[in-house]
Amino acid sequence: MRKDYCVKCWKENYGRTEQRKHFICSNTLGICEGCGKKKRIVLQDDAYIGEYSILESHIAFLSIWLLKELFYVMVRMIQRIFDK
Ligand SMILES: [Zn+2]
Repeated sequence: MRKDYCVKCWKENYGRTEQRKHFICSNTLGICEGCGKKKRIVLQDDAYIGEYSILESHIAFLSIWLLKELFYVMVRMIQRIFDK
């Protein structure tokens, strides 16, 4: 599980050098597990969103390919029925 970190500690722990805008932070203050201070906690990081979208596009591609294959199988079955 991901730890609760403020932007500063998040950057230090995950080796991120991006600007503040790349991180989505909580609206309320939380205890940072890095420095132990009460700060806004990083909820989401652009890098992780990127990884998810790559995974999603792979799943989308796979499901389209599967649907296409299924369609061809069905077409062949229909053709066989009509050929008789
Ligand atoms: Zn911190």
